Amino acid sequence: MVAKTKTEALITLQNTGKSYIQPNRQAISILENINLELRVGEIVALLGPSGSGKSTLMRMIAGLIPPSEGKILYHNRPLSGLNPGVAIVFQSFALYPWLTVLENVELGLKAKGVPTDTRRPKALQMIDVIGLDGFENAYPKELSGGMRQRVGFARALAVEPELLCMDEPFSALDVLTAENLRIELLDLWLERRIPTKAVLIVTHGIEEAVLLADRIIVLGRNPGRIRADFPVTLKHYRDRKSANFQAIVDRIYTILTNPDLDTSESETPSVAPEKSTQKKYQSLPAVRIGSVAGLLELLEDRHEKDLYRLGQELQLEVDDLLPIVEAAKLMDFIDLVEGDIGLKPLALEFINGGIDERKQIVRQQLLNHIRLVQQIYNLCRSKQNQRIPEELMLDLLENHFGTEEAQKQLNTAIDWGRYAELYSYNEPAGEIFLEEDALLENSEQLTVNS
Ligand code: ADP
Ligand code: MG
Repeated sequence: MVAKTKTEALITLQNTGKSYIQPNRQAISILENINLELRVGEIVALLGPSGSGKSTLMRMIAGLIPPSEGKILYHNRPLSGLNPGVAIVFQSFALYPWLTVLENVELGLKAKGVPTDTRRPKALQMIDVIGLDGFENAYPKELSGGMRQRVGFARALAVEPELLCMDEPFSALDVLTAENLRIELLDLWLERRIPTKAVLIVTHGIEEAVLLADRIIVLGRNPGRIRADFPVTLKHYRDRKSANFQAIVDRIYTILTNPDLDTSESETPSVAPEKSTQKKYQSLPAVRIGSVAGLLELLEDRHEKDLYRLGQELQLEVDDLLPIVEAAKLMDFIDLVEGDIGLKPLALEFINGGIDERKQIVRQQLLNHIRLVQQIYNLCRSKQNQRIPEELMLDLLENHFGTEEAQKQLNTAIDWGRYAELYSYNEPAGEIFLEEDALLENSEQLTVNS
């Protein structure tokens, strides 16, 4: 790799989008306006919160599902049907239990129409490369998780795909096995022992992305869109503890913890301006107020400001920590700068407050910052009997979220509002209603913007 000439495009996405028609016949947009080129010679990591459409994007590239808008090109030609140049490794291994290792690996070749006599030697060779020698005739249930995923890799690599796609391939493995497999895969790639031309790895592991990728793409949620797309130029093998490595990790943390931050430094900026003028709901992370309280207390105790190191210290996965941080941010309890968290004065008041003060503070923050809570509260107040059916909220939410996500959003808003004693919820009746004392206590806060 000498001069930096722009290499050949393997896959090109042009204004690509995906939406699904819901049972209520409304279209819900999963991915919007994706512009992206995957080029020969790069490992690209696709990062983003769960539900941001990572798997959907990968499936479209593999031709498993068609886009609803825009184009997907493979070698500059429109893709139709399965992408012949792609093989996928799944998190769940997806092996056939009644087939041996060898038979499982041969399966991909068989599907490609490779004749039996060439199939076997190819499969055996890949089994050797991937370190499964001696297990050819074993059945998946006899293997450890790490060995099973090796079968997944061997099966995908045996067909010599131009683009190897992996959807959270290491997530189901224990830490050491995962790290071992990552490095082995990197070896194969760097030493060119596999003919694969490019790799696309979907992950929610920030470190995993920085460890492996030449380029990182961060997706955002509701709808899924590219929020950042930047190269990682550190030399392999990368030292997780180096300042440069940490700087990139922090940068990604900053992006992920600021869902509304404009990070449009992408090489292929999206062209279309924001089309909806309608005020959007925030995407509420499904966490309890208790978790937010726990986070705030921890931050005060530990004096560890770096979010990434805090996660390590607590042995929390990004996926566990981020939603809590996001909730604290939405309620305006914390500041986030470059992956460092700072407690706002109100957070200190909260931490030092008794239960009633805490409720009062959360109440105020919800009414000032969380649109869905404001809306529920105001709708209840506008009704003479001070109650609304939850269906009303679900219908409103389903204009913005999928059916399942709408329910989740409502559950979270109910949970938060209940904590703050803004309103209550009668599950059998499916009604949200104001409580007497909630009414009295909040009578000064009537001028909430909605
Ligand atoms: P990620 O892999 O980033 O977690 P996915 O691509 O799996 O995200 O899903 C993105 C969103 O699309 C989710 O909200 C999911 O519920 C929705 N979704 C995925 N597949 C379908 C489908 N077949 N019909 C309706 N919604 C879907
Ligand atoms: Mg996924």
